[in-house]
Amino acid sequence: MSQSLLLVVAVALVDQDMRVLIAQRPPGKTLAGLWEFPGGKVEPGESPEAALIRELTEELGITVAEPCLAPLTFASHAYEHFHLLMPLYICRRWQGFVSPREGQTLKWVAPRALRDYPMPPADEPLISALLDLLA
Ligand code: C5P
Repeated sequence: MSQSLLLVVAVALVDQDMRVLIAQRPPGKTLAGLWEFPGGKVEPGESPEAALIRELTEELGITVAEPCLAPLTFASHAYEHFHLLMPLYICRRWQGFVSPREGQTLKWVAPRALRDYPMPPADEPLISALLDLLA
């Protein structure tokens, strides 16, 4: 059976204290309560980087320049009704202050504590690559 492909893009924002930003999926959304890296769906005709820059402004009120987005790894996960492909970028520089523009709960977390926050199954493998980079 063929499954539709969903392209979601995510980013690990790393601050000057080497903490990583995660956001909690709000009530009413699928996988509510789980934690994820900021990001969202790539719209038709959009590049992953453009989608990320748009989402970061919408969700967090920050401006990111495209060269500050470094690709790190990607997740590929078969959910029941679609297949998710999710590139993860890392970003250490942005303009503006991170604020929860959509009422979401945000947390800055030390890399070693990331596994204390339950994430969607697709996201779990991303953490190992991030820990390798930040170790
Ligand atoms: O965030 P949104 O609900 O638009 O994402 C669509 C789907 O992609 C989610 O229902 C979830 O199954 C998957 N997803 C995920 N990990 C993320 C973001 C989305 O597995 N970090």
